[in-house]
Amino acid sequence: MEISELGEFGLIRRLAKTIQPTNAETIQGIGDDCAILNCPDGTDQLVTTDMLMEGIHFDLTYMPMHTLGYKSAQVNFSDVYAMGGMPRQITVSIAVSGRLSVEDLEQFYAGLALACQEHQVDIVGGDTTTSVTGLAISITCIGTVPHGQAIRRSTARPTDLICVSGDLGAAYMGLQLLEREKEVYYGQLRDLQERLRQAQSQEGHQQQQEHIAQQIRQLDFQPDFAGREYLLQRQMQPQARRDIILTLQQHHLRPTSMIDISDGLSSELLHICHLSHVGCRVYEERIPLDYQTAAMAEQLNLNVTTCALNGGEDYELLFTLPISDHEALRQIPSIHVIGHITQPELGAALITRDGNEFELKAQGWQPFADDWQD
Ligand code: ADP
Ligand code: MG
Repeated sequence: MEISELGEFGLIRRLAKTIQPTNAETIQGIGDDCAILNCPDGTDQLVTTDMLMEGIHFDLTYMPMHTLGYKSAQVNFSDVYAMGGMPRQITVSIAVSGRLSVEDLEQFYAGLALACQEHQVDIVGGDTTTSVTGLAISITCIGTVPHGQAIRRSTARPTDLICVSGDLGAAYMGLQLLEREKEVYYGQLRDLQERLRQAQSQEGHQQQQEHIAQQIRQLDFQPDFAGREYLLQRQMQPQARRDIILTLQQHHLRPTSMIDISDGLSSELLHICHLSHVGCRVYEERIPLDYQTAAMAEQLNLNVTTCALNGGEDYELLFTLPISDHEALRQIPSIHVIGHITQPELGAALITRDGNEFELKAQGWQPFADDWQD
């Protein structure tokens, strides 16, 4: 069977079908943002792991090593916050291709260290090996949460409010921007290479050949992002939302369910709905957007709501709260109520600005889809 027939989540479900934890301290195994392990000291440990592959998850054409290290760590911390916990340690495994230098890897570690410092996390181990296909990074994060307090995907209840932190779609727009600039760069490179070939095929153009060869050597990836810095930052340097977890605690707000948005709002909300056996109604007009996201979508002729629903890599938190918390939420500008949880029979619905109702579908990032288009 082709893996694309199942997709990522179908594949995980199938592989995990027969896996049953047997140890008493394994409270939650496969299926949430982290595993939950009970410790004798009365806390629960959270464990999550993520793998990032060059050419799939990142492109070294535009991703500096320092930024890559920073983002790799943030992405992992985000899964721990998505359980309401605090990240404490990471292990870092890398498979390195011959193209990278020691200095490149030092930059990567400086980025990792910066993220760890911001989130009070220790780097406690890992593994190092070689790769023939490009750089691979696997980070495992260990976090803690008071016993029984981890917030799962499976515990949303009808009438709960659906909340999201920050704004959505900007990271996806940032990626579009980078891809566009990369095309420009490779276009310039191809033109120069073609001119070099022509010069080489003619007699007596030695000086011209040398001139073009020099231009090729000096051609640098120097994209123009003026006025779009926010989009770029959201794509390159996501910030795992520790602040939101602390804010919720300060206001004594305890989400009934939570997940982080790595694959897109639709996909994550459907995870909550499926696992909690509930439906949802989300209002298009309430989905938080930055104005740079909207401006960029218009420029690229993309539907901004589609980008916010399916874009992914926002690393915001999506959670549900009892309806009685509505007043308290008004005092927290970084949290937006975008809809509510319903009985399962009502399905998952998006209510558009003009009042039409659509079924919410997961079109987020699918690693095993043959072709993913916006
Ligand atoms: P997230 O997007 O939050 O990182 P994933 O969608 O990657 O979560 O994974 C969903 C769940 O499936 C998690 O509990 C994860 O640990 C588990 N999982 C993913 N891949 C595998 C695998 N190859 N073997 C066992 N469990 C897996
Ligand atoms: Mg997650």
